[in-house]
Amino acid sequence: MTNTSDVAIIGAGIVGLSAAHALLARGASVTVYESGRPGLGQSAGQSRIFRHAHDDPRLVGLAVRARRQWREWEDAWGVRLVSEDGGLALGPSAVRRLPHLEDHPEIGARLVDGDELRSLLPILAPYDGGAVFDPGGGSIATRTAIEQLAGVVGDRLVDEQVITVRDHAGGVEVRTPTTVSTHGALVVCAGRGTAALARALSVAIPVELGAHVRVSYALREAPERLPTLQDSSGFFGTAGVYAAAYPDRSAFGLGLSDSVSAHDDGAIDDVDALAASATNADAYVSRALPGLAQDPIGIVHCWVTQLPWGEDGVAIWQSGNSYLLAGHNLFKHAPVLGETLADCVAAGAVPEPFRPADRLGRDG
Ligand SMILES: Cc1cc2nc3c(=O)[nH]c(=O)nc-3n(C[C@H](O)[C@H](O)[C@H](O)COP(=O)(O)OP(=O)(O)OC[C@H]3O[C@@H](n4cnc5c(N)ncnc54)[C@H](O)[C@@H]3O)c2cc1C
Repeated sequence: MTNTSDVAIIGAGIVGLSAAHALLARGASVTVYESGRPGLGQSAGQSRIFRHAHDDPRLVGLAVRARRQWREWEDAWGVRLVSEDGGLALGPSAVRRLPHLEDHPEIGARLVDGDELRSLLPILAPYDGGAVFDPGGGSIATRTAIEQLAGVVGDRLVDEQVITVRDHAGGVEVRTPTTVSTHGALVVCAGRGTAALARALSVAIPVELGAHVRVSYALREAPERLPTLQDSSGFFGTAGVYAAAYPDRSAFGLGLSDSVSAHDDGAIDDVDALAASATNADAYVSRALPGLAQDPIGIVHCWVTQLPWGEDGVAIWQSGNSYLLAGHNLFKHAPVLGETLADCVAAGAVPEPFRPADRLGRDG
């Protein structure tokens, strides 16, 4: 046995690091196992969208809590983590989600007309359909968030791949290529690796693996503000588009929400579809975003781990003293997910609405 601590965490993406932060704040000792580099799994890239809007009203409440916590982290660390530029959503699904947002007046979400849309996002081609502005939305500075949290974790980060885990003497045993360690509890936030580790604990997580492309385009002129964009309207020929600014507003990272399905082992049958997704992003930019230079400046390939009940679905599975989190679109909620995982360890149980049966984040 080469290591022991109160809680082992597998995965130093945004969720595992947030869980480590929450557990450390409560006085627990932690060991964070990471097989690659922190933040280079699903959390990779320059930015993510923070938005309050969701089909499931429970996730709107969660986002309100998360936004508050992102601000607390900004105050504590003296850095900007979520831009103050707001978020725009175009199309019928955006308008359908508005009543859930209006249940939380502090969000201040509202319909905007074509003129206001042009002033909020001048790089967008003329559009006069339904659009909603979320003033508390914005682009998350992913790298700053990862760096800050990794700094808090410090030398508790262990540069090892976890091969397997098992219940052991009232706690949990963790095996890596060169260590066998015991811990009082286990938190698994291993992204694409979570379902495989869960099988060692006889837990079946029904996650669907997909591959995703996100392409970045430079701004022709630096704008004063650059809200995030979600476009489900189809008005510009492609629906299911989302985009978030780089922290310095020099570029917009843009992708299509459809992912290309992959086998459990990561094999992708339809690589052409992955290439087509990048081409479709180019086509959308040429039609909808004349304020962007048309030649891509960067590309991010990423795994998507989606639960069957919705693209924003998230849940925590329990086996003894082990807690395993899976879902998609988790970056924005990470501060609250970290606190919730710490709550699980303290209470010895998963609270509502995070149990799999609660189907948190179900599609409307
Ligand atoms: C292109 C793209 C765009 C997205 N856009 C948004 C968005 O706009 N807003 C939003 O909120 N979310 C968005 N998401 C989703 C969000 O990025 C992810 O849900 C989130 O980053 C997941 O974080 P995580 O910590 O759970 O997983 P990860 O970041 O994948 O971290 C898991 C870590 O575990 C490590 N690991 C795995 N197996 C093992 C093992 N056996 N031993 C040791 N380490 C292991 C991996 O190396 C990895 O670093 C997007 C995702 C993608 C792919």
